[in-house]
Amino acid sequence: PIYHQAKFINSSPHLKDTPADEGLEIAFAGRSNAGKSSAINTLTRHTGLARISKTPGRTQMLNFFEISEQLRFVDLPGYGYAKVPLAVKQDWHKLMETYLTSRKSLCAIVLVMDIRHPLTEFDWQMVEWCEHSQLPLHILLTKADKLTYGAGKNTLLQVRRELKDMTVPLTIQLFSALKKVGVDEVHQALDQLFNP
Ligand code: GDP
Repeated sequence: PIYHQAKFINSSPHLKDTPADEGLEIAFAGRSNAGKSSAINTLTRHTGLARISKTPGRTQMLNFFEISEQLRFVDLPGYGYAKVPLAVKQDWHKLMETYLTSRKSLCAIVLVMDIRHPLTEFDWQMVEWCEHSQLPLHILLTKADKLTYGAGKNTLLQVRRELKDMTVPLTIQLFSALKKVGVDEVHQALDQLFNP
């Protein structure tokens, strides 16, 4: 798959220094610790990529990766817990809102959630932005290895029910970076998203 050819392009704390707004972008979002870096590493088979995104100082940035001449991945900053200072939350909110509403090449969002804590406040915010910007959304319920198969399936159905009123194209799947569960399914979903 083309996803194994990923290369780091750059990191940017604001929208000025981003790669030209051409071609297509798929953005990855997730609350800190949800498992977003591990998911990106697994999908690209490139352990260095998400390490870049984890470099101190880059966690609050947009990190761009080239997948092919016409496709980029963007690792969006995720903030952690309720204790984040208000100013950080506000900066994050402004950056995300501007990026999600103005980026023309953005064609879909992959939202990574820890299957044990789905649909946090962070996730709902992302879901609402997708709805507002009419962006297709693919949800990974990651760390599926932490639950039995039956419990994982139940969570999948429950999340699907909670999002049933969404009007944008929405797909949800089980994933595990640790056990490599659902990797082909993500590749296929991404193929569909940037090449509908
Ligand atoms: P991020 O902050 O969202 O980028 O999260 P990371 O990818 O750094 O993962 C956070 C923690 O969850 C790390 O300790 C990972 O080893 C662990 N983790 C990530 N993905 C999985 C998974 O699929 N299964 C399990 N069991 N642990 C995972």
